[in-house]
Amino acid sequence: MPEMRESGACTTCSGAGYAVEQVVGGSARAHRCTCQTACPRCGGTGYIMVASGASRVAQACSCRHLDQRIAAFNAANIPAAVAKASFETFRPWSQSQSRARTSCEGFAHGVRTDQASRGVLLHGKPGCGKTHLLAASLRWLALEKGISCRYVEFMLLLSDIRAGFSSNRGHMEILGPLASVPVLAIDELGKERGTEWERSMLDELISRRYNTGLTTIFATNYPRDPQAIPVPTGGKFHTASKDFQRDAEQMSLEERVGQRIYSRLNEMCDFVALDGPDYRKDAEPGRGSFWR
Ligand SMILES: [Zn+2]
Ligand SMILES: [Zn+2]
Repeated sequence: MPEMRESGACTTCSGAGYAVEQVVGGSARAHRCTCQTACPRCGGTGYIMVASGASRVAQACSCRHLDQRIAAFNAANIPAAVAKASFETFRPWSQSQSRARTSCEGFAHGVRTDQASRGVLLHGKPGCGKTHLLAASLRWLALEKGISCRYVEFMLLLSDIRAGFSSNRGHMEILGPLASVPVLAIDELGKERGTEWERSMLDELISRRYNTGLTTIFATNYPRDPQAIPVPTGGKFHTASKDFQRDAEQMSLEERVGQRIYSRLNEMCDFVALDGPDYRKDAEPGRGSFWR
């Protein structure tokens, strides 16, 4: 038997009933905590007998829902690097990160399977915790609500589709399940090269989900508005104009994904900006990571 706290809650899972492990080279995996292996209600049969009028009938034990929730999490394909990411393990360094966590929590708590939910689009520089918050949202949806969801990094999805072509698999074989899963998280939006084919894949995926009212959340390194970039002379900042020579890093999300997809994103999601830690103000010794 696992150790129990004085309150009676298991010290391994704090009473959640599941534990999550990081499988190196794979994706995040959840399993039943040892405190749940022999269910005290049904003794592991998955059914309990309940009174129904004068007779007694078998009813599914609530521990079966635990298995469904664990299966939903294991199907979500959350990367091993953020296997343990949850809202509790997110450590905000800045006000915007704190607000972003609140937005994602509000989103995850509000998702329903019987109606369309507005998603969130997290935008900000690399390393400010966007992937953590995507993973934490999916974790909540799967493990607390049993909602089917999937994580996908858009660049890797494109290479899967390309690899499918060489083995005569059409793109819908790979896109299909992602187009129909109740909640999808698309990470690294806009990082692709932006070829016509890449955009058509993104457009198809997003349009299918939009048209069927499914919920999608996104993360991107590209900002909502064109960035203020330094001009070589004068030392002042100005907003980049179209004719200003910029590299990909300085483009806006709209420029990266095109106007059509960008306007869809606005209809589907609330945009939430995150900025990285302000090291001068927020850095504390020994705080090197978002993860505990
Ligand atoms: Zn436990
Ligand atoms: Zn049971």
